[in-house]
Amino acid sequence: MRVEISITDRQRLLDHAGSSRDEVCGLLLGEGGRVTAVRACANVSDTPARRFELDPAVLIAAWRAARSGGPRVIGHYHSHPTGDPRPSVTDAREAAADGAIWIIVGGGEIAAWRAVAHGRVHGRFEPVELVVG
Ligand SMILES: [Zn+2]
Repeated sequence: MRVEISITDRQRLLDHAGSSRDEVCGLLLGEGGRVTAVRACANVSDTPARRFELDPAVLIAAWRAARSGGPRVIGHYHSHPTGDPRPSVTDAREAAADGAIWIIVGGGEIAAWRAVAHGRVHGRFEPVELVVG
C-alpha cells in the first residue's frame, strides 16, 4: 500500500512537529490512499511529552463533515520529539487494528504506517510507502 501527500502538507506536518517540545497531533483527511488535507488538533493527553490524544471535539466535527460530503478521515499524525518516526510500543498498545493511516514525524522525517492486526511492527503496524508530490 502507498499513501500520497502533497509537498505542502508534508511541510505543514514538519512545521507543526517543530513548533513544540511535546508530541503534536492532527487528522489526515482524504480519499483512499491520498491525503488531501491535514488538520492540526490539540494534544489533550495528560502527558503530552510522551503520548498524544487527539482532541475528540475536532475528531467528531471531522466525522460529521465527512458524513455531509466532506473529505473522509483516513488517519492521523503525531510527532515523536525523540526523533524516531517509527511507532512506539505505546502507539501499538493504543492503536486499533482498523486500517487507519498513521503518519509519524520525527527527526525531520515523516513515515507512514497502517494499523492492522498482526502487523510486522510491534504486532500492530505495517510500513506504508509515502509518496510526496
Ligand atoms: Zn507515537
